[in-house]
Amino acid sequence: MDDGAVDDGVVGGASVGEAPVNDAPRGEVSSADVIEADVGVVGAGPGGMAAAHRLAAGGCRAVVLDEGARPGGQIFRQLPTGSRASLPEPPSHDRGHDLLQAFERSSVEIHSGCTVWDASPGRLWFEHRGRSRLLRCRHIVLAPGAYDRCIPFPGWTLPGVVTAGALQVMVRGFGVVPGRRALVVGSGPLLLPTVTSLLAAGVEVVAALEASSRWRALRALPGVAFHRARRREATWYLKQLWRAGVKLQWGRTVFACEGDGRVQRAIVGRVDREGRPIRGSEHALDVDVVGAGFGLVPSIELALRLGCATRYDAARGGHVVQVGAGQATDVDGVWAVGEVCGIGGAEVAIAEGELAAEHILAVRGGAAVEPSTRTRAREERRAADAMLRAFAPLPGLAELARPDTIVCRCEDVTRLTAQQAAELHGDTLRAIKLGCRAGMGPCQARICGPSLQAMATGDGRREMDRPVVQVPVKPVRSETIRRAPRGN
Ligand SMILES: Cc1cc2nc3c(=O)[nH]c(=O)nc-3n(C[C@H](O)[C@H](O)[C@H](O)COP(=O)(O)OP(=O)(O)OC[C@H]3O[C@@H](n4cnc5c(N)ncnc54)[C@H](O)[C@@H]3O)c2cc1C
Repeated sequence: MDDGAVDDGVVGGASVGEAPVNDAPRGEVSSADVIEADVGVVGAGPGGMAAAHRLAAGGCRAVVLDEGARPGGQIFRQLPTGSRASLPEPPSHDRGHDLLQAFERSSVEIHSGCTVWDASPGRLWFEHRGRSRLLRCRHIVLAPGAYDRCIPFPGWTLPGVVTAGALQVMVRGFGVVPGRRALVVGSGPLLLPTVTSLLAAGVEVVAALEASSRWRALRALPGVAFHRARRREATWYLKQLWRAGVKLQWGRTVFACEGDGRVQRAIVGRVDREGRPIRGSEHALDVDVVGAGFGLVPSIELALRLGCATRYDAARGGHVVQVGAGQATDVDGVWAVGEVCGIGGAEVAIAEGELAAEHILAVRGGAAVEPSTRTRAREERRAADAMLRAFAPLPGLAELARPDTIVCRCEDVTRLTAQQAAELHGDTLRAIKLGCRAGMGPCQARICGPSLQAMATGDGRREMDRPVVQVPVKPVRSETIRRAPRGN
C-alpha cells in the first residue's frame, strides 16, 4: 500500500502525519453533530458499562461510544439481534447478563457502531453511520479494552490463520463457523475460551498448545485457587475440554503454517522455558484454521492522544495507562478502567468502572466513595496480577520468525528488512518505523508494534518503546476528518 494508506475512502493514521488533526480545516457542521454530556465513556465492555450504569444511577448524563454492534465488549459479546444460535457460556457470563440488563434499562445513552478516532480533554471525536460527530463532556472514562498480541511465524499471514480474539469474534459475535479442523496455539487464559467457542461451533480442535511450561503456569495457581469466581471459571473451561477430549499441551507452539492459498498444515513443536523453538521436535498437523493467541495488548492510543502518563508492565500486556486513586489519570477529568490499565479480565474491569464512577460522582458533589468499592477493585487487580505473571510474554517466541517472514503485514516488511533498518537507523521503534515503514499502514502498528523491536533486534527481553500515536487512532473515512466539528 502506498504512503497515504488511503484505500476505499478509509484513512489510516499514517496519511495524516504528525499534524494535530483538530486544527485541520473543517466542513459544514450541523449542531446535531455535537452532543453534550456530563461524562463520555469510550467502550461498552464490562468496564465502560459498569461505569456508565453507576454514573446514570447517580444522576449523571453519561454517553457511551462503542464500536461494537451491540454492547458487551469482548467477553460479553452478543450475537446479532435475531440470531438463533446459542453457545454454552461460562459462569462469568451470568454476571455479564445482569450487567447488560441493568445497563440497557438505565438512562445511559449508547451510540453503538461508532469509532472514536481522536480525543482531547473534554472532547471525543467519533464517526457514526458515516457522520462525523463530537461529544463534549466534563469527564472522560476510557474503557477501550485491549487487542490481540501477534507473534509472527512463517505462514502467519495465510488465510485461515487468525488471532484467538478474531476467532471469538467470528464465532460469538457473528455466528460464523471458521473451518472444520482447528489448531489453537498461544499463551494465557484466552486459549480456553477460544477452544470452547470453536467446539461449540462444531469445529474439531485437533490440538491446543500452550507455549508456557506447566511449571511456569503453576505460578498462576494462587490467583485462581484463592479467587472463587476465577476458580469456578477455570473448572468450567477445563470440564468442557475434558468432555471434548482436548488436552492442553504445555511447552509447545506452532513453528510454521503452510498451504496453497490458505492454511492446510501446521508445523508444531516444543519450545524451551523461554519460548525458543526446539528445532528437530517438529511434526505436521492437517488443519484448515489456526487460532493464535499470545496474550493481549492494552489499547492506549486515545490515552496517549489525551496526554495521559503510561508505564511499562510486561505481565500486564506492555504499556498501560497509569492511574491513581479512583482510576484518575494525571490529566484532569480523564479516568481509565479495565484492560487499558493492564490486562486483568472482566471482574477487574467492572470493579474499576464502578470505582471511577463513584469518584466522578464524588467530585461532582455526590455521595462519598464506598470503601468496599475501593477494596474490591484493589483485590480484583491483585488476583489478576498474580495469575498473569505466569503468562508474561515469552522472549524466545521472537525466534519463530525467519529472515523472510513478514513482520508488518500492512506494509509487507520482512524480519530481515526490519533488522537492517534497526542496524542502519537505530533500534528504537520510531527509527525502525522510519527506516522500513513497518507499522505505518492502516493498523498503525497494532499488529506488528508489540513484537517489532524484538524481531528487529533479536532481543525478545527488551522493554518495548512506547508506541507513537497518530490520528485517526483507528481507520475512519477521510470525509469524517474533513468534516470534524471544531472542539470549542
Ligand atoms: C478479541 C478479544 C476476545 C476476548 N475474549 C475473551 C473471552 O472469551 N473470555 C474472557 O474471559 N476474556 C476475553 N477477553 C478479555 C476480555 O475482553 C477482558 O477481560 C474484558 O472484556 C475487559 O473489559 P474492558 O471493559 O476493559 O474492555 P472490552 O471488553 O475489550 O471493551 C472495550 C470496548 O471498547 C470498544 N472500543 C475500543 N476502542 C474504541 C474506539 N476507538 N471507539 C469506539 N469504541 C472502542 C470496543 O469495541 C469494546 O467494545 C477477550 C479480549 C479480546 C481483545
